[in-house]
Amino acid sequence: MLPLVALVGRPNVGKSTLFNALTRTRDALVHDQPGVTRDRNYGVCRLIEGRPFVLVDTGGIAGEDEGLAGATARQSRAAAEEADLILFIVDGREGASALDDDILRWLRKLSKPTLLVVNKSDGIDLQAALSEFSRYGLGDALPTSSAHRTGIDEVLAKVVERLPQEGSTETLDTDPTRVRIAFVGRPNVGKSTLVNRILGEERMIASEVPGTTRDSIAVDLERDGRKYRLVDTAGLRRRAKVEEAVEKFSVFKTLQAIEQCQVAVLMLDASEGVTDQDATVLGAVLDAGKALVIAINKWDGRTDYERQQTETLVSRKLSFVEWAENVRISALHGSGLRELFRAIHRAHASATKVFSTADVTRAIEAAYEANPPPVVRGHVPKMRFAHPGAESPPTFIVHGTRLKSLSNTYQRYLENFFRKRFKLVGTPIRFLFREGE
Ligand code: GDP
Ligand code: GDP
Repeated sequence: MLPLVALVGRPNVGKSTLFNALTRTRDALVHDQPGVTRDRNYGVCRLIEGRPFVLVDTGGIAGEDEGLAGATARQSRAAAEEADLILFIVDGREGASALDDDILRWLRKLSKPTLLVVNKSDGIDLQAALSEFSRYGLGDALPTSSAHRTGIDEVLAKVVERLPQEGSTETLDTDPTRVRIAFVGRPNVGKSTLVNRILGEERMIASEVPGTTRDSIAVDLERDGRKYRLVDTAGLRRRAKVEEAVEKFSVFKTLQAIEQCQVAVLMLDASEGVTDQDATVLGAVLDAGKALVIAINKWDGRTDYERQQTETLVSRKLSFVEWAENVRISALHGSGLRELFRAIHRAHASATKVFSTADVTRAIEAAYEANPPPVVRGHVPKMRFAHPGAESPPTFIVHGTRLKSLSNTYQRYLENFFRKRFKLVGTPIRFLFREGE
């Protein structure tokens, strides 16, 4: 499970700037993609070392920021109450205000691990600012300038230190013979209907996995002789909890489910095409590097013309993930499920495929020969050899010279070449380029 870290502070102290600085992804390629959008409030912070965590910016949760009043306040409070760690952000330029003091009083009652971040510490008398906030009794304050990205690494280091250790919560990936799947999508696409349909059909062999953490629930099932585990999915949660949790944390829940799964099934509503919210969920799946199947639901009751329209629209909007299989289903009638599970199986098989160094090196050589990278400032980037890295997603480590100057276009060419050659469907793949022999 991903821990939750909440950014709390009065308006204008720089929460959203800090949020962006902390969640800025290292995987630029994913985010160059048109059609991927980001959630403004929730982001996963993925560190090179240390476990990832979800960051929630409590400021913009309700859109309009009204301080600690009204809907924003309720949402912020809910997020902070759920959080494992709080980052209390204050403004080093303006110093402590009455509103900061109010927030502090509330945080004291909450009594959660809290770090004090003094932002906008650029171009000010830092010692004076820090000593002003020392009376808050929150330990050593962390000075940052989120606008200039200074102090960010120190904040990250402290966050990692203060978060619960990995393994302190139970995980769902204990059974390697089961493919963990999550049905994700915005509200009303039909996730619960699908899950109930699947479990209804499989009632005899489905069983609830004993409670893991908080309100996460998983169910095991078998289909066509293969074993699956459905993780934290809308239809699995108990009714009372659903309302609460969905209201407050649908995005958090979605991020959790994506993190725990091996194959994410992104559900779309055939009558609505691909909305911004769908693109945000898709972006989270891509960020996490998970295998992906796209299920276009509510395929029933549509005319041939409407179906054609939907096909065209979806394939245009999702052309940048054309490696993911599209399956048309009706959760209501239970049609298309066999094809859906076949696609899930193919995606998982691709994501966990094992490669030999010889195969990967030969593939790189073949790709190079068929289409060498263009000359950059008088030099041709050279790829000398390659070997497989991690699986899920399959990662290829390429050694050579001037590989930094390989264009995105060329990297995509390599990606497509590898996909074809190794018949990889339904999974992202990654290349890491290393200079030298
Ligand atoms: P929020 O309301 O707490 O989310 O605050 P924002 O992130 O929207 O920032 C409010 C204003 O402060 C914006 O104009 C930012 O550009 C500015 N700001 C944010 N961080 C810094 C910083 O570290 N230094 C300076 N000088 N300005 C900052
Ligand atoms: P969730 O919020 O994603 O869990 O969505 P629900 O499963 O609650 O479904 C939302 C609405 O869509 C309900 O009224 C369902 O009956 C309806 N629905 C779900 N799947 C289908 C489908 O395949 N066809 C049609 N026509 N309606 C569906």
